[in-house]
Amino acid sequence: MGVRAVTFGDIAGQERAAALLNASLRRGMLSHACLLVGPPGVGRLGMARELAAVLLCTQSDEKACGRCESCRLYRKGAHPDYEEVGVPEGKQKLLIDLIRTLQETAAVKPHVARGRVFVVRDTERMSIEAANCFLKTLEEPPGECRFILVAGSLWDIPPTVVSRCQIIKLSGLAPARVEEALRAEGVQQEDAWWLARRSWGSPGLARALGDMALPAFNRELCGRLLKLEPKGAFALTDWLCAEADGAGRSSADARAALQELLECAAVLYRDLAAVAVASGEAEVFNRDLEDTLREFASRRPLDSIIERADRVFETIERIGANANRRLALDDLFVSLAATSSPA
Ligand SMILES: [Zn+2]
Repeated sequence: MGVRAVTFGDIAGQERAAALLNASLRRGMLSHACLLVGPPGVGRLGMARELAAVLLCTQSDEKACGRCESCRLYRKGAHPDYEEVGVPEGKQKLLIDLIRTLQETAAVKPHVARGRVFVVRDTERMSIEAANCFLKTLEEPPGECRFILVAGSLWDIPPTVVSRCQIIKLSGLAPARVEEALRAEGVQQEDAWWLARRSWGSPGLARALGDMALPAFNRELCGRLLKLEPKGAFALTDWLCAEADGAGRSSADARAALQELLECAAVLYRDLAAVAVASGEAEVFNRDLEDTLREFASRRPLDSIIERADRVFETIERIGANANRRLALDDLFVSLAATSSPA
């Protein structure tokens, strides 16, 4: 009996995915193309990179030995047979040129490892042309090339690509586990509780939202939305734009930040709908506001609360589609204020 290889051990909450990969490696059954699917921030990329290390090692098939030349080069970030690609900064899609360049590299014999290893991030954002082009490589990988694809969901990837990959699913963690990790990092109790839930159990996303100071923002936004009057709508737009600009370095970042901020509004209306439907035992995200939520919901028809949530989601979509954000936000807040007074 050989020593049982333990890899991927540092990725919290992904024990199932790790066990699956370890079992495939042990049996020598790992496909030349793996697709790691899961929400952002749960450790997809970390797992892809660990897997790449194992595949590059020249001493073991089950784990990265850490001592061979290949392992040393990889740890230094200087492995000539390793490449990581994704959507370039400021761009929306992974385009065919990038895949063609990858194919050219794949055709060259490896220098150190048995085969070249590629990690492809943002697979769900591959253009159709890029995906069709990549398909040929997945069908007939040159030499001993290995591909590790990372994606948020399978829905936006052509089934022809998905069917040629071994799928490894990563999932969100139990909120209590994320909360515990955040507490250990010094996040205060109430913020940790909220971030763990608001990130849907993704430690990476929870940290990113914490860095945006989202708990404090959320408290203020909820307070303002629950008391919103038509004359306050434009001031709310100003405030949100300023917050988004403060969070994002580029205009694409600011757009993504604004969508994240608006999700706080969507969550608020979700909470209101929850207390309206299940009075007494609703689990809400904004638990410190529970009494206020109950009072607000009791004085309005459920339809109007759901309509508000729909408006928020519509606005998030419009902003994603590059609409003028001021116009979109003014529209939103004016309509939220108009339906705001008690029925
Ligand atoms: Zn090694």
